[in-house]
Amino acid sequence: MSDAFFFFLEVRIMASVSVQLAGKPSESLQGEALSGFEALNRLKVKGVDRIVAIKVNGEKKDLSFLLDFDAEVEPIYIQSEEGLEILRHSTSHIMALAVKELFPGVKVTIGPAIENGFYYDFDYERPFREEDLPMIEERMGAIIEADLPFLRKEVSKDEALAFFGEGGEDYKVEIIKDLDADKVSLYSQGEFTDLCRGPHIPTTSVVKAFRLTKVAGAYWRGDENRAMLSRIYGVAFADRKSLKQYLHKLEEAKKRDHVKLGHQLGFFSTHEEIGAGMIVWHPKGAMLRHILEDFEIKEHLKRGYELVKGPEILKTDLWMRSGHFDNYRENMYFTEIDGQSYGIKPMNCLSHMLIYRSSLRSYRELPKRYFELGVVHRHERSGVLHGLLRVREFTQDDAHILCTPDQLDEEIKGVLTFVRDVMTIFQFEYELEISTRPEKSIGSDEDWERATQALINAMEDSGLSYKLNEGDGAFYGPKIDVKLKDALDRTWQCATIQCDFTLPERFDLTYIDRDGTKQRPVMIHRVILGALERFIGVLIEHYAGALPTWLSPVQVAVLTVTDRNIPSGQRVLKNLLDAGMRVEGDFRNEKLGLKVREAQLNKTPYMLIIGDKESEKGDVTPRLRNGKNLPLMSQEAFIELINQEIQQRRSLP
Ligand SMILES: [Zn+2]
Ligand SMILES: [Zn+2]
Repeated sequence: MSDAFFFFLEVRIMASVSVQLAGKPSESLQGEALSGFEALNRLKVKGVDRIVAIKVNGEKKDLSFLLDFDAEVEPIYIQSEEGLEILRHSTSHIMALAVKELFPGVKVTIGPAIENGFYYDFDYERPFREEDLPMIEERMGAIIEADLPFLRKEVSKDEALAFFGEGGEDYKVEIIKDLDADKVSLYSQGEFTDLCRGPHIPTTSVVKAFRLTKVAGAYWRGDENRAMLSRIYGVAFADRKSLKQYLHKLEEAKKRDHVKLGHQLGFFSTHEEIGAGMIVWHPKGAMLRHILEDFEIKEHLKRGYELVKGPEILKTDLWMRSGHFDNYRENMYFTEIDGQSYGIKPMNCLSHMLIYRSSLRSYRELPKRYFELGVVHRHERSGVLHGLLRVREFTQDDAHILCTPDQLDEEIKGVLTFVRDVMTIFQFEYELEISTRPEKSIGSDEDWERATQALINAMEDSGLSYKLNEGDGAFYGPKIDVKLKDALDRTWQCATIQCDFTLPERFDLTYIDRDGTKQRPVMIHRVILGALERFIGVLIEHYAGALPTWLSPVQVAVLTVTDRNIPSGQRVLKNLLDAGMRVEGDFRNEKLGLKVREAQLNKTPYMLIIGDKESEKGDVTPRLRNGKNLPLMSQEAFIELINQEIQQRRSLP
């Protein structure tokens, strides 16, 4: 008897299945087994042409999946997060088919979906090059046009091994051997068959908008002792408009790249001779740091924090006591002085606790809020270092609040308000995430529970929504992470608030309570901007280098037209310096056009061009960095204008 007969029989036996739309008990079907697609059609689900897959009892399946049992189904639309993931992963199959057709002898490995797109790793006689991409894209276009179905087949592990073995697909053979299953699923589009769990889009023509973006090397299974493969990256979206928007953002991001702009603006440099992940600040960058540090100190003093300062290196014994040695050692640097081991601080907590412990504390003194612009060193793998965003030495705007358990909620709320105020000043939107206990951690379950609850309470009382990030807390306590959204909607991790019952215990911190008993304070670790280095990198990209006047290292450039105007230029320069402005004079014997262009490239908010007319009366015609001129005004009026901008922390375009 043929397989088809059995199939027919099976369907007949299970004649009556019930299929129901998830969350809508009234929408259901009774009858013969049918495909997911057919079921959604008969259930009259809206927008069938935008559905790429189906959830059957919560599991993602192909639209061709046969519903021969009672099930609850749900459509997966192309523009949903899950739909896009399926689309992107399916596009990687299409790319693999194109590459197989164009480059005979190429071996395939894996091709997952990633944020915005996908990649596929290939083993070929030479690495793929950017120049190969247009040809591959063109072939993919033809495959999409051909509207090939993604056909699924289940086979035994042995059959799959034989199939890929014959095809010389060693990597697939290795993957299958490692699989702990009797059966595996294969998907074919045209001539190409790949090992895959699925699900996929029903046919290749569902792909409407994709682009191959770059090539890179990648080790097989991320293992540097294994073969070096050639990876091709691509992006895919539900429609052309979304792809266009994404590519535009990518272009914008390239223009805003803080490494490129940081060098152009004379902010910082890095040097092989100094070491990876170490930043050298040039005059303008150092000025920007100073402006931020000054801002931070003022904002902290206003909120009842006290300035403190601890040493860079502390005895290793102390790091053992705190738990850093056991839980954070891989990220620390150690040194030896007079035969004694010392650890270079990766965090500022320890000195702050010793300051607290240096005298007997009463409940009346609490909360204590110690603030330090603390320089820390952390060992980051060289592969993750990037410009100012991931470095090995950085300065944190770090504070530790020691308070009574009763004060905890209010203190956390105070920090959340602090974050809100500061992010408003810098024009950042942000999201909150709470991270819970990681595997490697210290402290009792009860303390972790209390600490996590305190953070949640503070957010809920403040009416803030948040995401849960399971297992990503610090080793000594749970934390709230603040993710900034910049002008291009990218998110950046900056502020964190951590709640800690454990370190006060380990360092035997106490206070005398109302009733004369000794009690244990709670400690909040928190940063607002986070690492200044990273925050400056984010600021540069957020403002595309055009910092608002209050942050600009140089606020005004005074440019002379001819040497005749130098004495007047110098008078203007001095007046502005006396008024507290950050001013630069360009009195070179160069063409005015060149001087203006340079000031514009430096993103200086204002240029004052001093020609004969200005020299005569001492008035100025301010020119904005976008090329617009303001009307002629007195120097006093100009100083007043800038002062207003600085006070309001804004800027003309
Ligand atoms: Zn697949
Ligand atoms: Zn700390």
